[in-house]
Amino acid sequence: MTFRSKAFEIALNRVAPSLTPPTEKVADLYGSNTFSDDVMRTLLSPEAYIKISNAIRSGSTIDREVAEEVSAAMKSWAISKGASHYTHWFQPLTGSTAEKHDSFFDLTLDGKAVEKFKGSALVQQEPDASSFPSGGLRATFEARGYTGWDPSSPAFLMDNGAGGKTLCIPSVFISYTGEALDYKAPLLRSLVMLDKAATSVCQFFNRDVDKVTPTLGIEQEYFLVDKALYYARPDLLMTGRTVFGHSPARGQQLDDHYFGSISPRVNAFMADFEFEALKLGIPVRTRHNEVAPGQFECAPTFEEVNLAIDHNALLMDLMQKIGEKHNFQVLFHEKPFAGINGSGKHNNWSLSTDTGINLLAPTTKPKENLRFLTFLLNVVKAVHDHADLLRASISSAGNEHRLGANEAPPSIVSVFLGGELTSMLEELVNKGEITLEKGENFYYKLGITRIPNLQRDNTDRNRTSPFCFTGNKFEYRAVGSALNSASPMIVLNTIVANQLADFKKEMDERLNAGEEKKVATVEILKRYFTESKKILFEGNGYSEEWVEEAKRRGLSNISATYDALGAYVTESTIQAFEKTGVLSSRELHARYEIELENYVKKLQIESRVISDLALNHVVSTVVKYQFKLAQTARALTDLEMLEEAEPIKEIIRDISSHVVVIKKLVHQMTESRKVANNVEDLLSRARIYGSEVKGYFDEIRYHVDKLELLIDDEDWPLAKYREMLFLE
Ligand code: ADP
Ligand code: MG
Repeated sequence: MTFRSKAFEIALNRVAPSLTPPTEKVADLYGSNTFSDDVMRTLLSPEAYIKISNAIRSGSTIDREVAEEVSAAMKSWAISKGASHYTHWFQPLTGSTAEKHDSFFDLTLDGKAVEKFKGSALVQQEPDASSFPSGGLRATFEARGYTGWDPSSPAFLMDNGAGGKTLCIPSVFISYTGEALDYKAPLLRSLVMLDKAATSVCQFFNRDVDKVTPTLGIEQEYFLVDKALYYARPDLLMTGRTVFGHSPARGQQLDDHYFGSISPRVNAFMADFEFEALKLGIPVRTRHNEVAPGQFECAPTFEEVNLAIDHNALLMDLMQKIGEKHNFQVLFHEKPFAGINGSGKHNNWSLSTDTGINLLAPTTKPKENLRFLTFLLNVVKAVHDHADLLRASISSAGNEHRLGANEAPPSIVSVFLGGELTSMLEELVNKGEITLEKGENFYYKLGITRIPNLQRDNTDRNRTSPFCFTGNKFEYRAVGSALNSASPMIVLNTIVANQLADFKKEMDERLNAGEEKKVATVEILKRYFTESKKILFEGNGYSEEWVEEAKRRGLSNISATYDALGAYVTESTIQAFEKTGVLSSRELHARYEIELENYVKKLQIESRVISDLALNHVVSTVVKYQFKLAQTARALTDLEMLEEAEPIKEIIRDISSHVVVIKKLVHQMTESRKVANNVEDLLSRARIYGSEVKGYFDEIRYHVDKLELLIDDEDWPLAKYREMLFLE
């Protein structure tokens, strides 16, 4: 019996764990495991409560005295809910979250046990975190790193199963020299800058706006594979994706998985993690089956960007943990299976004011629509001017498989606005006026009287566009499922902040020169529209024609990660980041280096896994199978059944031809890896990995997948696609 068949048997006999759904209403349950505003109001003195509320709302600094009071309240709250430990919870540049638990328990000088959590421990910690990637920002003599409390993201209790609960405090992570080593620090800086720039532009239209909050709703796609089968696939275990596997006869052609009925076992998993997420204050709302078999999606209601990103990182961690209980492995890799869709993480982004206006929502009033168009066109112009940087911000070894593969947006950055908006803009350019109002509501005439009138939305959709306007927000669809959304959001916030600041500057100059406000606005917007027009595209982003057309328009189409990452360190990027103070040139170079290195390491691991699986699992099995065939052929020959022996010999020859090529290719790939490993310059090394070493992956795969069809199903060592994808 192969390991695979044992695993399959286990997977086949699984039953969903029986769950007792919580009896509380979701509204009562929501946020119950967070140190929420309500909890603070109850436990803190009015003075401390006001100070911390101000810190959250306007970013004012919390003094140590208040920190002392907050830490005492946090401690008693956490302990009363069963916590034994606390940790600063942060997001280093590894792509996952990090935590190092300290016990509340401590000893006094005279040896008595006490429970302690001082204000200083809440505010700042020094994890021995010298092994996190720093891209050269830390030399060994200054290897210290500090984490610092972010009061704007509520502390929460993480249930570690039998290990008890830990109080997690969302934090930034910086080096001894004060440089950012994480995603949160630059994200927070970018949010402050965007608030500032957007608020001052708002002043041209609404003087009562004091604050603009960028909002984000993250749709998360993922695959589920039974745990036993996952362990029967060393490639999944090591790399998060299958490096071999013949496509099953039925994949996603029938579109029967998308929005299909959710199986009880999957539903139990979803319900379970959703309840836990809700308790952690993560507003999960939507669940459905995705396009590929075995693929699903979860989407929350949008929140302020920093919170949405913390919540997404926490959700991914939570899903893995709850998956254990249900014997599911959650795959967040962008392309776990060849031949069917990969996974993305759509980032829905907008700007909202403290007066309750969504700045990216068109209205029925032309005057307000001038404000809307101002924000819209500033975003379009920012994306146009920094398209390559936006592309860089979503580049990774995993996402490289997905972009441009006709299942996800191409690696050409373009913006979709939709017909109605485009005509509004054209009107603006041609007439200098916007008379067009948001279209009257349109009702479909179905001719079925019992069905209430269905309303048509007057903005259309385009699933093939990487960056599309969807009625009242932009959706960055090209983001990979495994990525930390902070990466694209830091870029988007920064470039839009810069762009809005430029707009404001020009407006001020024109107004000072005596120009009328509306005229000045329209003049600038007309120019923006003309200057950025080439990035607007309404057609099919998956088509070959678009690739051609984009080339004619002079848009970049950067498919390789190592090329795309270069945009992090161009002059225009450095200028944009230094101007806003979001990242210094040194920090950008460090990030660039970390991403390149990450890319190299991922491919290095994949390449080694491919060698190992090809030789030690596939070829070795195949050779044994050949031996069986040879015995049969010989027996037939002995019986003088030469004609009958011939097809068997044919299979033996067929198998041998593939084995010979596999062995040769694996050898060549290993040699190419050796060459790459000896190259000092990181970019050159990444290029060799990406263009040469990786080139062998598909070639080897082709022959292995052929063998999968030639070998007796009983003998094949690796769990097959049909087993992993259709078992629910
Ligand atoms: P879809 O039709 O794409 O499913 P939804 O309205 O359900 O559109 O939105 C998808 C995601 O976009 C959700 O996470 C939702 O909360 C988020 N979203 C909606 N409005 C905004 C907004 N103003 N800012 C940011 N995200 C938003
Ligand atoms: Mg979706």
